[in-house]
Amino acid sequence: MVQPSTELIHHGYTAPDGFAAPQPGVFKASTVFFPSVAAMRSREWKDKTGYTYGLHGTPTSYLLEERLCTLEGGSQCVLVPSGLAAIALVALSLLKSGDEVLIPDNAYGPSKSLVEGELLGWGITHQYYDPMDPQDLQAQISSRTKLVWLEAAGSVTLEFPDLREMVRICRQRKVLTALDNTWGAGLAFRPFALAGAQEPGLGVDLSVHALTKYPSGGGDVLMGSIVSRDPALHLRLKLTHMRLGLGVGMNDVESVLRSLPSMALRYQAHDQATRALAQWAQMQSEFVQVLHPALPESPGHAHWQALCQNAPGGAAGLFSVILDPRFTPAQTDAFCDALRLFRLGYSWGGPVSLVVPYELASMRSGWPAHLLRGTLVRFAVGLEAVEDLQADIAQALLQLR
Ligand SMILES: *Cc1c(COP(=O)(O)O)cnc(C)c1O
Repeated sequence: MVQPSTELIHHGYTAPDGFAAPQPGVFKASTVFFPSVAAMRSREWKDKTGYTYGLHGTPTSYLLEERLCTLEGGSQCVLVPSGLAAIALVALSLLKSGDEVLIPDNAYGPSKSLVEGELLGWGITHQYYDPMDPQDLQAQISSRTKLVWLEAAGSVTLEFPDLREMVRICRQRKVLTALDNTWGAGLAFRPFALAGAQEPGLGVDLSVHALTKYPSGGGDVLMGSIVSRDPALHLRLKLTHMRLGLGVGMNDVESVLRSLPSMALRYQAHDQATRALAQWAQMQSEFVQVLHPALPESPGHAHWQALCQNAPGGAAGLFSVILDPRFTPAQTDAFCDALRLFRLGYSWGGPVSLVVPYELASMRSGWPAHLLRGTLVRFAVGLEAVEDLQADIAQALLQLR
């Protein structure tokens, strides 16, 4: 007779056969059982042919990986605990001492911190290139360049680069490309088929996605993914992923699986409200420049048009404004403090609209020629009614009048 404690632990359970429902089951595991020592020795963790240990995946994480491959048009996926961890994993998998990485000057801020901190400490150097000038990127590629980061649109300033041309240059020079695809989310354009059917193969090597944003959609989950279409490249990521132990929690995976089916609709709703607000913002005299790739005056608009114009929701949910330089940074802060529906907070992609004032001078190598002087405020538009959001900005503008 076994003791009750033993009996409770070994109580038989197998996932039910013949049960189907909209939401997949959540399989949580560190330990995975093997039927025999032979199975333990032969089972492979590097691909999806079997289960070995929770860190390498359960049916729940395999499912999210497969759905993300479908979303982005790739064939393999690695999940990590945040978008930033995905950016770091790409660097740690592909770069070694003596290598150089090229980064757009408008890259996601923490991505710049990573190259200036850890990577430099390990003897991996970096250069920043002008995201609006493919010739500058071309000129900076050397024999030491092993990776080029791309971002469309750029973080905070939302310039849209000539992605096709930059990928063409990198492919010609045989340098790997990684795109931070958080803004496009797999919906605004196809990262692995940038020229559509005209030029098959014109695409990035890796697409990195902060699932924290649109795929989660709730402002309550941190997760990142790296999608690729080359099995050998995927294996390099997978090996480093295993050595670093960057596992994800299955409850979080479940949250993303729950939100994914509504992502395209949410993305379109964010897009429509954002376009309306950005156009209205252009008419406010306190704002000297409005940055939003679908506005004809916004830097890189033609590149956005060429790549995203026909995608439903193809301009996402962010826009930035540059305030008239007659306003002091303290006045800009007071404007942000006066907003009620736009909450002060980082990240985006959730239901709540968010706002952050930025000090652009400290973020760029120099003040870009295509941006007017003044303090910058970035709006992340949530899912509230657009007229309420517009009224909120209007009442906060009274602070400045
Ligand atoms: C938010 C974000 C990230 C990082 O995602 P986290 O999950 O917050 O670490 C990376 N790139 C871009 C463009 C982002 O907006």
